[in-house]
Amino acid sequence: MATITNHMPTAELQALDAAHHIHPFSHQAELAEKGARVITRADGIYLTDSEGETILDGMAGLWCVNIGYGRKELADVAARQMTELPYYNSFFQTTHVPVIALSQRLADLAPGDLNHVFYAGSGSEANDTNIRMVRTYWAEKGKPTKTTIISRKNAYHGSTVGAASLGGMAGMHAQGGIPIPDIHHIDQPNWWAEGGDATPEDFGLERAQQLEQAILELGEDKVAAFIAEPVQGAGGVIVAPDSYWPEIQRICDKYEILLIADEVICGFGRTGNWFGSQTLGIRPDIMTVAKGLSSGYMPIGASIVSDEIAEVIGNCEFNHGYTYSGHPVACAVALENLRLLEEEGIVDRAGREIAPYLKEKWEGLLDHPLVGEAKIVGLMGSVALTPDKASRAAFASDPGTIGYICRDRCFANNLVMRHVGDRMIICPPLVITKAEVDLLIERARKSLDETLEKATADGLMVAAS
Ligand SMILES: *Cc1c(COP(=O)(O)O)cnc(C)c1O
Repeated sequence: MATITNHMPTAELQALDAAHHIHPFSHQAELAEKGARVITRADGIYLTDSEGETILDGMAGLWCVNIGYGRKELADVAARQMTELPYYNSFFQTTHVPVIALSQRLADLAPGDLNHVFYAGSGSEANDTNIRMVRTYWAEKGKPTKTTIISRKNAYHGSTVGAASLGGMAGMHAQGGIPIPDIHHIDQPNWWAEGGDATPEDFGLERAQQLEQAILELGEDKVAAFIAEPVQGAGGVIVAPDSYWPEIQRICDKYEILLIADEVICGFGRTGNWFGSQTLGIRPDIMTVAKGLSSGYMPIGASIVSDEIAEVIGNCEFNHGYTYSGHPVACAVALENLRLLEEEGIVDRAGREIAPYLKEKWEGLLDHPLVGEAKIVGLMGSVALTPDKASRAAFASDPGTIGYICRDRCFANNLVMRHVGDRMIICPPLVITKAEVDLLIERARKSLDETLEKATADGLMVAAS
């Protein structure tokens, strides 16, 4: 059998891919027809495909390559660790240096008294851990009925059975028999789409107070925790009105509900600070991290928990763990990634220099006829596409029709910009420069122009009634 390499013709690679590879979150038959784009290498913020095209990656892979592509330091650390100790577990009275070092580093970086780390192979697994951890915590405290976790519609917390149950994605809940019991969803704080005539401030308060109503309806003695992303990522980069988070924090404090901040996207510089909780003024009891923790170079996730939770859990045997919890190579790579993000001032510069520059340019897209709302926090942003700005109207076509056209135009213009329904989102590597921000905006604007042209020609610029 011939070796499959980067040098094979694209069509052959695509045919082999379609023959044997089932893609995540994809319609296989449709994908096979179009053919998947074959990415062959990457450097900085740019991807190269099998046709030799250079593509600006406005999504940092899947929201994860914070440090940018091509950092040899991370490869070197991985090679060294693989040679020295490629694997060992920490189940049976054993530990190793990379997991010790990374835990200390994370305790240092994390705000407040979040000083203890439980490892997983991904963000989904870490959220599964959180479900079991908060329930075990309350059981150990003599309150075993506190099992329900409140989450939000359109939240994304991962794709395992537990994490997808926590998430509020209707399309995911429609398949495979989820959610699991004792997960409750309240509405998301998406003012642009759902705020009606309310001011953003009033709407933010109302949506936060749904948490209080849910606690009162379910019973305070039944609720274990509330989980939320500081900024909803996969839901479309939904930024809550300013009134939202202080009210959520007040309610969690009042009813002694554990607050889980899912920082899988927001962590490690994405929002302009090390953690989204710092940007939004939240004091979580648990933070879920993954993605930017290793900048995607190795799969790793974790739950970073408070002194109080660690102490309570520490009084029992917590019957939970993964073969790859605290994998030495993943830990070593994550540690080196954090060192570079800090010592090279990447997080600092992203927050202080790039975020304000990107914000100005991104919000400049508001003058485009298709753009109804432009939101951005740090280096994650979204625009809502609309046929009528004044009424904040959705399109009459199936949700995502226009977004898909726009994503297609971006693809053609060598920009990775994702669509969630009819919202377009960006999340570039933190190492993006101002000149590269200009290029991103130029390609985004060109793609929006072409989208408007096509949507107009196809008679799609019609508001839903
Ligand atoms: C991606 C993501 C997850 C899931 O992480 P995986 O590593 O894909 O399992 C969880 N929460 C949020 C907020 C995410 O964006």
